[in-house]
Amino acid sequence: MIKANDPGIKSWLDVDPNHDFSIQNLPFGIFKTNSLSPRVGVALGDNIIDLVALSQLGYLKPLNFDESTLSSSSLNEFMLLGKGVTRELRNRLSFLFNRENDELQSRSTHISNCLVPIEQATMMMPVNIGDYTDFYSSIEHATNVGTMFRDPNNALLPNWRHIPVGYHGRASSIILSGQDIHRPKGQQKPNENEPPVYGPCRLLDFELEMAFVTYQGKALGQSISTAEAEDYIFGMCLFNDWSARDIQKWEYVPLGPFLGKNFASSISPWIITLDALQPFKVSGPVQEPKVLPYLEYTGEGNYNIDLQVDLKTENGDVNTICKSNYQYMYWNMRQQLAHHTINGCNINVGDMMASGTISGSTPDSYGSMLELSWKGTKPIKLSDGTERKFIQDGDSVIMKGAASKDGVRVGFGSVETKVLPAI
Ligand code: CA
Repeated sequence: MIKANDPGIKSWLDVDPNHDFSIQNLPFGIFKTNSLSPRVGVALGDNIIDLVALSQLGYLKPLNFDESTLSSSSLNEFMLLGKGVTRELRNRLSFLFNRENDELQSRSTHISNCLVPIEQATMMMPVNIGDYTDFYSSIEHATNVGTMFRDPNNALLPNWRHIPVGYHGRASSIILSGQDIHRPKGQQKPNENEPPVYGPCRLLDFELEMAFVTYQGKALGQSISTAEAEDYIFGMCLFNDWSARDIQKWEYVPLGPFLGKNFASSISPWIITLDALQPFKVSGPVQEPKVLPYLEYTGEGNYNIDLQVDLKTENGDVNTICKSNYQYMYWNMRQQLAHHTINGCNINVGDMMASGTISGSTPDSYGSMLELSWKGTKPIKLSDGTERKFIQDGDSVIMKGAASKDGVRVGFGSVETKVLPAI
């Protein structure tokens, strides 16, 4: 077991047992305050551990890594040091904040220097995202979409069970939780027999996804195997892949997603390391037919992470409209990364790869409005008496995620985005 994952560890810092950021979590982010420049922090309960302050006080010296990487406005430089440093640093923080150890606990001045209440901090984009890839790896989602738009009897295209289908998205429009978006505009073809029109998207949707962030990969021409893949994955965050269904429907043939997808995708600010998620590994679904050898893997490939989507209307009412789980994924991260690099495609530090919409088998676990309202034929009733087929102006979409086991909770916080009218 990774030392920091020991469920028996309790912190001397007061952390609510139901808090997402337990001492077994220790997620990484970038924050600033009125007096502190952007820097690497680790969340613990309602506080951020300021790693620059901890470094200046000498607490990280025993680890012997380049501590200047912590004074950066992205995690990229730190991630370049590789998985070994991440693991040692998490273990060190776990030791320093463990109530069994006195090294930091007994020094109140040092404590006040290195802790920042989360409410006083401004979170920033955690990663300078180089390239962004979006997969399509939930069989329930792919089946639902295929059923609605093509043929219920042949919902999955012939390649789907053989390839973790994906496309290259746009990194520049990935935004942080809390940033509002405007309803996108574009070309649509609402009527079959009439010419296309231009205007604000009418079928605005979210996609409940999770994304993983990579360490530096291998050189161009080389591949990462499923057995090696976890060494190249830093961690995960929540990911809302905003989608303009009407723009998407008209433009996607034959080259796939474009302007219906690249106007915004929102992420949560804390990256939960793959190390912290290790206790929550579970087996994935049986893959039938058998996959090609380069996609085979051993052991447990999925993670049991409860996911939830809330819709907040402009009057402040919050309705939970979806409950899903990351373990429903047909293709896992190891297979996605192995497939992505099998042709020699190189990946770089800070690349982001999203899962694709994560839908479960029941209608309340569908990860998009398209599926929840079944293409608008089954409107969702909200507590304020209104209905939704898709997302309206003034609505906020909030996604949450957390894994729990043996009294330990490792949560992701949330990603929240409000939709403003088109401009
Ligand atoms: Ca997507």
